[in-house]
Amino acid sequence: MPVMGNMSLKPEKKSGRRATRAKPRESGRRAAGASKLARWDKQYVWHPFTQMREWENDVPLIIEHGKGAWLYDEHGAKYLDGTSSIWVNLHGHRHRAIDRAIERQLRKVAHSTLLGAASPPSILLARELVRLAPKGLTRVFYSDNGSTAVEVALKMAVQYWRQQRPPRARRREFIRLDAAYHGDTVGSMSVGGQPLFHRSFQDLLFPTHAVPAPYCYRCPLQLRFPSCGTACLDPLEQILKRRRGRIAGVIVEPLVQAVAGMITQPPGYLARVRALCAKYDALLIVDEVATGFGRTGTMFACEQERVTPDLLCLAKGCTGGYLPLGATLATDRVYEAFLGTHDDRKTFFHGHSYTGNALGCAAALANLEVFKKEKTLARVRKRATLLRALLRSLAREPMVGDVRQCGLMAGIELVADGTRAPFPFAARMGDRVAAECRRRGLLIRPIGDVVILVPPLAVSERELRRMADILLAACRRVHETRRAPRR
Ligand SMILES: *Cc1c(COP(=O)(O)O)cnc(C)c1O
Repeated sequence: MPVMGNMSLKPEKKSGRRATRAKPRESGRRAAGASKLARWDKQYVWHPFTQMREWENDVPLIIEHGKGAWLYDEHGAKYLDGTSSIWVNLHGHRHRAIDRAIERQLRKVAHSTLLGAASPPSILLARELVRLAPKGLTRVFYSDNGSTAVEVALKMAVQYWRQQRPPRARRREFIRLDAAYHGDTVGSMSVGGQPLFHRSFQDLLFPTHAVPAPYCYRCPLQLRFPSCGTACLDPLEQILKRRRGRIAGVIVEPLVQAVAGMITQPPGYLARVRALCAKYDALLIVDEVATGFGRTGTMFACEQERVTPDLLCLAKGCTGGYLPLGATLATDRVYEAFLGTHDDRKTFFHGHSYTGNALGCAAALANLEVFKKEKTLARVRKRATLLRALLRSLAREPMVGDVRQCGLMAGIELVADGTRAPFPFAARMGDRVAAECRRRGLLIRPIGDVVILVPPLAVSERELRRMADILLAACRRVHETRRAPRR
């Protein structure tokens, strides 16, 4: 999962109001261990989406434990988890019900394969996912992360068309949005549009058709919603028409393109994509890896546009942020294209060592149970309303160009004062705001100059207010010192 880079961070030295260091007295023995760990981290670990040269010169944040919306480093300093540990945690860290479900499963078996055998947690979870997913999605194929959930959907789509009678093997092209992000494997990168992440691999990626993202703040057509009539979708129809009989599927994130910078889609957008796919008989692949499991205020974002995709990709929040688990859901229509005799060779030849992992499925079942018990969705909607109000004061800051929110995911786009001009890449304003937040006890991870806030769904009102206060203070601080050379 992306982020641009790590900023040089001095160890926290403030005390008093801003300090979050809970137990400075304990520092003696633990700090000695900590520095050893920090040394070994730099010596042995290669961190994702991280410039390791900078990391090596930095004091690494080593999270030792967590509780609820809080994470604690090895020195005892505590931080609000403003990224939900990169968009996966839902009900807080160390939630009793999920902890227990994993412990219970552990006493039975940690893992057994789904190749040639079944397992209770994977069966029960599949049934539950089908019950909760948009009507029409009836089959669950497991994998272990978001990239593989997308990979599986792409392969299913291509093989689906090959196995039509008569075969429609020419349908093997995909349409995706500009700035799309669907994962880091070669297939999922191919349907992505993040030049910074993908440029080294361009020659490896299969070609796809890109259509404009509905980025209203920087409208690619220089129009305004709603008078534009969502004209950015016209190119989608044009490609579907021009490449008639060659498009296997259209892949989109529903309601919000998260990694693209929380680009929220205008109402009706997804439903129109659905209608166009139906009109030109292309499969609709909806990637709910970020939006799924309550993030947007409904269990799945598709529901808000009354859309059933042909393939639905899930991961991140699937286990409540406990264990890696991905799932690709398919309709009967897709599934049935794979049925035949052994000699027909119509089998979906795909699977991972840990497909349908029992611990992961048990955690996912407990996760869904918590949604019911704690009425999570109702609370998310309440918190989302509060967050909207809290972000209003942030929107008035001179450096804030646009505030975009969908449920409990928010992006704050930083721009040079009073303009829509982006800051230079080297100014790293997003990273600077994140560094200020960390000093004040909030962990966030920006995407370029879009400051991202994705709190756990279980965040309390107080915690959410605190997150917003820290964000505001950090933005002001960075604004005041923006011309000063970075420390
Ligand atoms: C995070 C993400 C992915 C990739 O998931 P991983 O588990 O990191 O491989 C794919 N699609 C979307 C929309 C995502 O947000």
